[in-house]
Amino acid sequence: MAEKLQAPRGTFDVLPDNAALRTQLIDQIAGPLFAQAGYGRIDTPIFEDTALFARGVGESTDIVSKEMYTFTDQGDRSQTLRPEGTAPVCRAYVEHGMHKLPQPVKLWYEGPFFRQEAPQAGRYRQFFQIGAEALGSDDPALDAESIVLAARLLDGAGVTGARLRIGSLGSGPERAAYSAALKTYLRAHESELSHDVAARIDLNPLRAFDAKHEGTQAVMANAPRLLESISAEDREHFDEVLALLDAANVEYEVDTTLVRGLDYYTRTLFEFTSDKLGAQSGVGGGGRYDGLVEMLGGPATPGIGWAAGIERILAAAEAEAPQAQHPAAYIALDEGADRAAAFALLLKLREVHGLAAQIELAGRSMKGQLKAASRVGAKSLVIFGGGRGQYDAAVKNLTTGEQIELDGLTAGDYYDRIAERVLAGIKV
Ligand code: AMP
Repeated sequence: MAEKLQAPRGTFDVLPDNAALRTQLIDQIAGPLFAQAGYGRIDTPIFEDTALFARGVGESTDIVSKEMYTFTDQGDRSQTLRPEGTAPVCRAYVEHGMHKLPQPVKLWYEGPFFRQEAPQAGRYRQFFQIGAEALGSDDPALDAESIVLAARLLDGAGVTGARLRIGSLGSGPERAAYSAALKTYLRAHESELSHDVAARIDLNPLRAFDAKHEGTQAVMANAPRLLESISAEDREHFDEVLALLDAANVEYEVDTTLVRGLDYYTRTLFEFTSDKLGAQSGVGGGGRYDGLVEMLGGPATPGIGWAAGIERILAAAEAEAPQAQHPAAYIALDEGADRAAAFALLLKLREVHGLAAQIELAGRSMKGQLKAASRVGAKSLVIFGGGRGQYDAAVKNLTTGEQIELDGLTAGDYYDRIAERVLAGIKV
């Protein structure tokens, strides 16, 4: 036998039960929330020029330095499977001149993303995110609206007890001054830091707040805090965001050590976690990225957004698959059945009457067909053949067990006569 092939490490197949949950989350929960808030759907390519992520997400981040799936195409161009959605959305905003539209422009997306991380429970190499981006306004109400949307999405999905942490990274000269002060502080404690953090003091000092290493954590406990050194204007912006979250009854904790693994963030930064998820507790997160569009060659444009992991939402909600649609009819084929008539009825039930209908496709005995019909939850069984006339059929109501013989049917009327019985059976 040939060697068995498996899905690549860190990836998974989405089977029908799980697909139904995802569709429900996207179409019934997220879609209406986004539509109410004026967000339009956007789909960007699965791969982009590598430069988009290198420039947008930042060379110093784990995502860009270690985790990207990058390949050279036949035209010798470096391409990368998208590791995140914000940079592509900003690229599209610039490419399509969306700054000419009324601002802010609000966009949402959903789909697969790729990061070559070490797989573990809740951490995959291909995972799915649902995300929202709003560009062209720095109004704190836009931050609040975006965060409230994420909170309502988690509520709607049944994620209870999610924790929201929020901070502000500030901007401009205060942020640069803070970064310099933090580097000085880290250098003074270099021997106590993990190798990784010590090696990245110049590149990305803020990530030290995120370290799991005990020595680093002890150093960071006394490190200067960014939130204490942001400008008065950024502080006011942050306070306004918090006041609006209070008004929306969204609970949060201000976290002066919050950092995220992408370089483009400025000002508001937030993350939702759930203690139902174990080590990979992040359900979603985001923040402002007021410099990103400009960095990608567009006009200076503020923006804010977030992304949440679909697998993590479903795991935190412990969601159960919605019931599959039960067929109104299962068409059984007894000895001598006119298969063409049965097949034509199948299509009529679906296409004219809008019913879910199945036909026997595995050559089972009548007993086997009855069993198959109840396994799929069919409401009625339509039986052709078994000594009946060419178009005649029996319709058995699988709820009540009642069976009616329809005979003397013709090519002209059998669809309607049988459909009538099937419909009557649904109403019982
Ligand atoms: P990020 O784009 O890193 O801000 O991640 C946003 C959300 O996407 C996280 O809170 C997770 O829910 C989800 N996520 C990120 N990376 C992964 C991964 N490797 N596997 C599964 N979910 C992920």
